[in-house]
Amino acid sequence: MEYRFTPAEEAFRQDVRSLVARHFPPSRPYEDSPAHRREWIDVLRARGWAAYKWAPEFGGPGWSAAQRYIWERETASNGVPAQLGGMGMMMLSPILQGYGSTEQCARHLPGILNNEVEWCQGYSEPGAGSDLAALRTLAERDGDAYIVNGEKVWTSWAHIAHWMFCLVRTQDTDRRQDGISFLLIDLSSPGITIRPIPTIDGMHHLNQVLFENVRVPIENRIGEEGLGWTYAKGLLTHERTGLANISLSIFLTRRLRGELAKQAELGANPEEGLSLRISELEMELSALEATELRALSELEAGEVPGAYTSILKLKGSQLVQRATTLFLEAAGFWAIPFTREAQAWNAPALPGPDWAAREVSRYFSGRAASIAGGTDEIQREIITKHVLRLR
Ligand SMILES: Cc1cc2nc3c(=O)[nH]c(=O)nc-3n(C[C@H](O)[C@H](O)[C@H](O)COP(=O)(O)OP(=O)(O)OC[C@H]3O[C@@H](n4cnc5c(N)ncnc54)[C@H](O)[C@@H]3O)c2cc1C
Repeated sequence: MEYRFTPAEEAFRQDVRSLVARHFPPSRPYEDSPAHRREWIDVLRARGWAAYKWAPEFGGPGWSAAQRYIWERETASNGVPAQLGGMGMMMLSPILQGYGSTEQCARHLPGILNNEVEWCQGYSEPGAGSDLAALRTLAERDGDAYIVNGEKVWTSWAHIAHWMFCLVRTQDTDRRQDGISFLLIDLSSPGITIRPIPTIDGMHHLNQVLFENVRVPIENRIGEEGLGWTYAKGLLTHERTGLANISLSIFLTRRLRGELAKQAELGANPEEGLSLRISELEMELSALEATELRALSELEAGEVPGAYTSILKLKGSQLVQRATTLFLEAAGFWAIPFTREAQAWNAPALPGPDWAAREVSRYFSGRAASIAGGTDEIQREIITKHVLRLR
C-alpha cells in the first residue's frame, strides 16, 4: 500500500521547501564549494537538522521515516544536499549509535556532525568485493592493540579522509563471516600507504590502501571481536538506500528540461525524440518513487522493508545512468572534452552551452553506480531470494 502524507507532514514539506528556496533559490543554485557547504551546514545546525536521521539523544531532530523522506526529496531534488558529513554521516554514524560504546560515540560523532572529520570505508579487497567474506586483511592481537597487515582497494576518498572504518580478519573460522571484526583506523598511523586509482571519468576519488604492521588500539574496535559481519550488514543497508539516488535523477531531469528550454530560446533545435525519452524517464522515476513510498509505508508500520533496498538500488542506478546518458546526448558535440591547448586556441570561450563540457565525466562516473555498494547482479540475487523465498 502506498503511503499517504498527513496534513502535518504536508506543512513540514512547505517549511522545508521555503527553507531551501530562501537559501538557494534558482537564481543562486547550490554549488559543491567550501563556501556553500559551510553556509548550508550552519543553516542546518541552527535548526538542529544537520544529522536528520539521528535520534534526539545524539543531537538529531528525531524525525519519523515520512519526515526523513520529505526532507530528502525536497532538498536533493532541488540540488541541495540532504546532509553533509560524507561516509561518516551516511554509513558509520548508524553503526556507532547502534553498536559503539558511549566513549566511541562521544569521541567520533561530534566530528561527523560538524562536518570536520572525513571517513572512508575499508571493505573491498582484491578478491573480496561481491564475496566480501573472503577478505584477508589480518588483525592480530598484540597486548592492548591489533597489528593490521593487508590491502584495501577501491577506497573512495581515502586520500582526503582522516579515519577509515574497516573490516579485518581476527580469526580463521569454518564459517568465514564469523572471524571478521570492525575497526576504526586513524589514517595518520605509521605503516599506511595510500595510492590513487585514476578512473575513466578523469577524477581521483578511488584509492588502494596498504597496511604494513599498523598498530590499532583495541579500544578502536566496534562491538565484539568476530561480530564485524553483523555490524557491516546493517551498514550496507544504509549504503544501498542512499545509493538509490532518486532525488538526484529528479534533479538531473528537471535541469535537463531547463537547459533544453534555454537552448530552444537561443534557436537551437534539440533532437525531437529527446523530449519523449526524458518523459519516459520521468515516468519511471515516478514508478520508483511509488516503490519507495511502499517501503516507507512498511517502515512506518514497524516492518523491515524486505527486498525494497535492493530494488531501489538496482533500478535507481539504472535511472541515474539513463539521466546522464540523456544529458550527454543533449550536449552532443559540445560534450567532447577538449584539451587545454584546444581551449586556449579557441579562447576566449568555446561555443556551446557551458555545462556541456562536464557531461562526459558525469556520464562515465554514472557507470559506476551499478558496481559500487553491491553490483546489479548481486542486487538481483538478493531480490530473487526474497521473491522465491529461498532463505
Ligand atoms: C566508484 C566505486 C566506489 C567504490 N567505493 C568503495 C569504498 O569506498 N569502499 C569499499 O570498500 N569498496 C568500494 N567500492 C568497491 C565495490 O564495493 C566493489 O567494486 C563491488 O562490491 C564489486 O566487487 P568487485 O569490484 O571485487 O567485483 P567482483 O565481485 O569481482 O565482481 C565482478 C563481476 O562478477 C559479478 N559477480 C560476482 N559475484 C557474483 C554472483 N554471486 N552472482 C552473479 N554475478 C556475480 C559481479 O556482478 C561483477 O559483474 C567501490 C567501487 C566503485 C566502482
